[in-house]
Amino acid sequence: MIQVGNVNIGGDELVFIAGPCAVESKQQLLRIAEGVKKAGAHILRGGIFKPRSSVHSFQGLGANGREEAEEALSWLREAGEKFEMPVITEVRGEMQVDLVAEYVDILQIGARNMYDQDLLARVAGKNKPILLKRHFGAGIEEFLSFAEYIAAEGNKDIILCERGILPVGKGRNYTRYTLDLAAVPAIQRETYLPILADPSHATGRRDLVFNMSCAAIAAGASGLMIETHYNPAEALVDGQQMITPDELKEVIDACQRVRRLVVSTQ
Ligand code: PEP
Ligand code: MN
Repeated sequence: MIQVGNVNIGGDELVFIAGPCAVESKQQLLRIAEGVKKAGAHILRGGIFKPRSSVHSFQGLGANGREEAEEALSWLREAGEKFEMPVITEVRGEMQVDLVAEYVDILQIGARNMYDQDLLARVAGKNKPILLKRHFGAGIEEFLSFAEYIAAEGNKDIILCERGILPVGKGRNYTRYTLDLAAVPAIQRETYLPILADPSHATGRRDLVFNMSCAAIAAGASGLMIETHYNPAEALVDGQQMITPDELKEVIDACQRVRRLVVSTQ
């Protein structure tokens, strides 16, 4: 079990991490933070350094230089304090580690950087919990083996996150990735680390988030990371997969019911 502020990850209670894909403004973040808190989320997320496939897409406010990065990080901190939620954001490169660690409670390593040994060692050295996302091409063994690069630095507060693997054939026409649900119990057989699921990036479709959230909890996940926005249509990144705070509440309530069922049948 990993304790972050007043939240326990991997304990009896499910943990929900929610917030926008990308932080776009202070007003946007505060409004979303208030919404996800009311919906029952425990931890606030918001991307500041975004890993984008195209250099021409919005790269996150962090790309506009240190001053803007620091300002956005301070909004995240402020929103977390205001609504009493620990905060998490992705660290995409070694140069960002010191700065990001000053502001957030959990450091996120994105799927694309799961293999970056130097980055893993650097974040581990910050002595804060690390959320490590599985690369979309990585096997379970590889995923756990790269988590060990964090543990090897003496940091055992590692939260794993299944976020979908590459779909086969024409799968990509339907879902962005394939949520590997079997990975959840399989990983629990191998390690004591908590494992979360991310149904937002795994599906890339808001209409699938509810079902895949329930399925991940049924599979035994300790919680979920869900991208949330009060108006997904106006988001600069990942609008197609974000749900609203009202929808998030429905997801969380349903997941809690699924969890009770799972626990009662064990
Ligand atoms: C994210 O959580 O913001 C993200 C980019 O996810 P992933 O690294 O899983 O693609
Ligand atoms: Mn996203």
